Amino acid sequence: MFDLIIKNGNIIDGTGSKPRKSDIGINGDKIISIGDLKNQEAKTIVDAEGLCVSPGFIDTHSHADFDILRDPQHIYGISQGVTTEILSPDGIGIVPLDKSKSKKHIDYLSGILGHPPEDFDGTSFESAKKFYHKKSKINVAVFAGHGPLRLNLTGMNDIPLEGDLLKKAKYKLEESLEQGAAGFSTGLDYYPQTFSNTQELIELSKVAKSKNRVYSVHLRSHEKHRAFANGGILEAIEVARRSEVSLLVEHYRTVEETAGQIDVLLEPVEKAKKEGVDITMETYSYPVGCTIPLIFFPGDFHLGGIDNIMSILADQEKRDYWEKELLKNAPRHDIEGAMWTSIGREDMHDYAGLSVIDGAKKDNLSPIQHVLDIMYRTKLNCGFRVIPPQSISKWRQVEEDIMNLLQRPDYVVGSDSVPTGQTLHPRAYGCFTRILGRLRRRFNIPIELLINRMTKLPADKIGLKGRGEIKENNFADLVIFDSEEINDLATFEDPEILSVGINKVFVNGNLAFDKRKEVTELNGYFI
Ligand SMILES: [Zn+2]
Repeated sequence: MFDLIIKNGNIIDGTGSKPRKSDIGINGDKIISIGDLKNQEAKTIVDAEGLCVSPGFIDTHSHADFDILRDPQHIYGISQGVTTEILSPDGIGIVPLDKSKSKKHIDYLSGILGHPPEDFDGTSFESAKKFYHKKSKINVAVFAGHGPLRLNLTGMNDIPLEGDLLKKAKYKLEESLEQGAAGFSTGLDYYPQTFSNTQELIELSKVAKSKNRVYSVHLRSHEKHRAFANGGILEAIEVARRSEVSLLVEHYRTVEETAGQIDVLLEPVEKAKKEGVDITMETYSYPVGCTIPLIFFPGDFHLGGIDNIMSILADQEKRDYWEKELLKNAPRHDIEGAMWTSIGREDMHDYAGLSVIDGAKKDNLSPIQHVLDIMYRTKLNCGFRVIPPQSISKWRQVEEDIMNLLQRPDYVVGSDSVPTGQTLHPRAYGCFTRILGRLRRRFNIPIELLINRMTKLPADKIGLKGRGEIKENNFADLVIFDSEEINDLATFEDPEILSVGINKVFVNGNLAFDKRKEVTELNGYFI
C-alpha cells in the first residue's frame, strides 16, 4: 500500500536518459518503487497517461529570499515546476548577519530583495532555517553570502580581510556550512563584496572546498585593480585553481553586443578545464538582466552604507559630482537603456514600467539625475532591468547562444528572479517553461537533456542529496507536465502570467501545485 502512485507517466528521470513509461510509488516524502505498479494499491492514484514525469526543477539562482517569507505560496516558482531554490546568490542576503547590522543592510538591498517579515532572524543558518523549513511551498537551500560575512567584520568599509579578520570570516563561513549553507557565494559588482581582493576570495573558497561545497560567483567588472587579471572570468578561474573549489559561474552567457560569440566566451573556461579546474556555469533564458542602480556606482559611493548614500543623495552638489563620475566611468547605455521594474513607494508607482529616458523627461532631469532622484525618494528601494534588443534577430541570436550553452554538460539553469516590484522581469514567472517550451521547440533539443540541466546536474553540483533524480529512496519532488503544451506566457510587458503545461507538482511527496485547483499546504524543506 502506497501513499501515492503516479501511473503510466513517461518518466524523464533527470540523468539525461530517454523517457520511458513506468509507474512511481511514493510513501511519505520518498520515492519507494519505480516499475509496473498496476496491481498495487495507494491512498491516491494519479494517472499521468500521455504526460511526462520529471524530478522537480532546481533554480540555482533566486533572489526570493524574503519574498518566500512574505508569500510562502510562491506561485511563480511552483507553477513552473520549480521545487527547490538556491537563495542568497551574488553574496546578496542577510545570513549570517548580526542583528545590529541587518536592518540597515536590508534597506540597502531592498531594491532586489524587498523586506522580510519583522521577526526574521538571519543571525545564523540555524536560526534562518526555522523560518523556511515546512513554512514554504518549495524547498530552499541558502548560500553563505560574502556580503553578510564581510559586514559582520568590517561593515560597509573598504578594508581587506586579512590576518585576524580573515580568520574570523573563515570561521564564520565554516560554521555556516556546518549549519547547512549550500556553498559560498559572492557578487563582485555588489558591495561590500567588491571591496575584496582575489586573495580573500581564495582563502574563503578554501573553506568551501574543505566542506565540499561550491564557490558561486557573479564576476567582477568593478574595482578591477584589486583582482587577479583585472577580474572577470580569469579571476574566478584563479580562485578555483588556487583553492581547488568547485566553481559555479553565475549568468555566464552572451549579451546583445557579443551575440553569436560563445567561442570567445568559453575560451578561458575550456583552457582551465583542460588543466583540471572544476567549472560549471549557469544561465537564464532571456537576453537582458535586472538589477539595482547601486550596481553602477564605484566603491566610494557605498562607503558607510545606506546612511551615507542618503546624505550624498540629499545634496545637489554631490549629485552633480556623481553624475560626472558616472558619465566618465559607467556604461552609459546601460543606465539609459534601463526601465524601472520596482519603485518601493506607493505614491510613486507610476514610475514603474517607465524607461529611465521617459522618467527623466517626466521629471525634466538628465537620465542620471533622474536615477539619483528616484534612489533618494525611494530610499534605495528601487530596481530596474535592461530593455531587450530592438533587433529581434539580435534577441534570437542571444537565445540561440543560451540554448547552445545549455546543451553543454556543464551548464545549469538559474532564473535570477527578482520578485520584488510592479513590472517584474518575466524570468521570475517563465524562466524554466520558456526553456522547455518555445526555446526547446525552436531549436529542436531533446527534452531529457534540458531536464538534466535543471535537475540532476545542479543537484550533484551543489550537493543536494537525494534530489534531482527519479530514483528509489530519493525525495519525491516531481513534476507532471505536458511536453506538447508546456510554455511560458510571461512577457516583458505582461510579466506575471503563469506558464501553461504544468499539470501537477509534488514537493516531498505532497501535492504542491495542481493546475485545476488551489493547493495551499506548505511542505518545502530547508535543505
Ligand atoms: Zn543575481
